[in-house]
Amino acid sequence: MISQVAAGVYSYLPLGWRSLKKIENIIRDEMDKAGGQELSMPVLQPLELWQETGRAQAFGKGLFTLSDRRERKLVLGPTHEEVLTQMVSRNVQSYRDLPLLLYQIQTKFRDEPRPRGGLIRVREFTMKDLYSFDADEEGLDQSYQKMLQAYQNIYNRCGLPNLLVEADSGAIGGKDSHEFIVIAESGEDEVIYCDSCKYAANVDKAESVKDKVDFGEPLPVEEVATPGVATIEGLSAFLKVPQSQTIKAVFYMADGKLTFVVIRGDLEVNETKLKNILRCFELRMATEAEVIEAGIVAGSASPIGISGIKVIADDSVTSGTNFVAGGNKPDTHIKNVNYPRDFKADVVADIARARAREGCPRCGKKLSSTQGIEVGHIFKLGTFLSEKLGAFFIDEKGVSHPIVMGCYGIGLGRLLAAAIEQSHDAKGIIWPMPIAPYHIYLCPLYREGSKVSEVAENLYDELEVGGLEVLLDDREESPGVKFNDADLLGIPIRVTISPRTLEKGSVEVKKRSEKDSQLVPLEEGITERLKDLIRD
Ligand SMILES: [Zn+2]
Repeated sequence: MISQVAAGVYSYLPLGWRSLKKIENIIRDEMDKAGGQELSMPVLQPLELWQETGRAQAFGKGLFTLSDRRERKLVLGPTHEEVLTQMVSRNVQSYRDLPLLLYQIQTKFRDEPRPRGGLIRVREFTMKDLYSFDADEEGLDQSYQKMLQAYQNIYNRCGLPNLLVEADSGAIGGKDSHEFIVIAESGEDEVIYCDSCKYAANVDKAESVKDKVDFGEPLPVEEVATPGVATIEGLSAFLKVPQSQTIKAVFYMADGKLTFVVIRGDLEVNETKLKNILRCFELRMATEAEVIEAGIVAGSASPIGISGIKVIADDSVTSGTNFVAGGNKPDTHIKNVNYPRDFKADVVADIARARAREGCPRCGKKLSSTQGIEVGHIFKLGTFLSEKLGAFFIDEKGVSHPIVMGCYGIGLGRLLAAAIEQSHDAKGIIWPMPIAPYHIYLCPLYREGSKVSEVAENLYDELEVGGLEVLLDDREESPGVKFNDADLLGIPIRVTISPRTLEKGSVEVKKRSEKDSQLVPLEEGITERLKDLIRD
């Protein structure tokens, strides 16, 4: 299907390319039906445009940049909001010009830190990106619903069951955002969902009702010696308290500034939530050296008595009592720490990673978790970019407003890869018919001294004329090799012709997804019979 050129950079081989083109045609058809108009924008974009919206910084190292011979900085487009919004600002003046749905199917570039999983996470990829331009929020809601439906149609037509989940909409502007997730064990996205009320969200965004903890009435603080204890597990074991009765200190660098995060010991920090609250571009864990440089005792750090550093607390530490926290000196912890009696935070918010078995934020029942592959993302952008780039329109009363935007993306190669992840067995791919590179794998056997070749070639011509896509395996290989390759390639229907089937005036027809084969008479109407199988 594909051949690797460099990390995260692939060529499509003829079979993979045929499938990709089918996906492209389905997507184009659904975009057109939903009122989209196709256009084409350049891959090369001026860096200034990205600086104007502040997104050069937001994308950071993910942005591929280069200089031309005059040392002007250019970007290899990772997405096209900037270019299109600028174009719309020059061409749209009146409310009469709206709504507008514009899209393209084109190559994008992102410098992924860890390209992996074949086509799942790549640095150069084909994407369909549509952008909606509306006069108001109501219009945006309608465009968003249209796209949501179009996306469902695309996945249905590609034979790809999926889950619609709430997604993170980032720190800049954005309101609603949803992802389409294909469930797959190998997927790198975690989805938290509720079977009772159908709440589902990407773990980056997911909320939960945290387990309640109650460790009695607040007691006076007490210093305890904890020699050699430097982890929450160690602390919990040493003092014989549950991890949920400890407070964990985690240090981050947010745009280069040391930030102190406190969270209940049994919970993990959700860095996306944290990033949104801090409204920072770059967030990473602080190194031990950076922590020590700030005069903090790593391993025994505590929010108690700390100053000159921003403290962000997860709301989990504000609801329990009598926690154990660091002592801010070596080998020392403090018992019976209570918020807000003993420490204060600059911000208290939900920054914890939601977990299966916690309570659903909507109905309170238990949450579950599954792995999946994100195959589409739709996003209400609002007016952030149109304001930055001057995309305004004049309403009926002559008043100027920023255009309300949405963006909607599908990675074609990733959809292809997700289809294979979801539909395969130990022998190979089992293509959903609508995106299979061919409908039929035509497999002549024992050709020498028989009429097999002649019959196969005639049938090939007949089926092609009848509109079926046929891959004729005319290699000099044994039946075993041919059948194995047929299974590996996963073409939905295998048609075998051998002297034995010809004796019965028939061919053997087998679906890739089924175990048993059937004999189909080689007579007029065989094209129709095979077409019926394809439509099934
Ligand atoms: Zn629920």
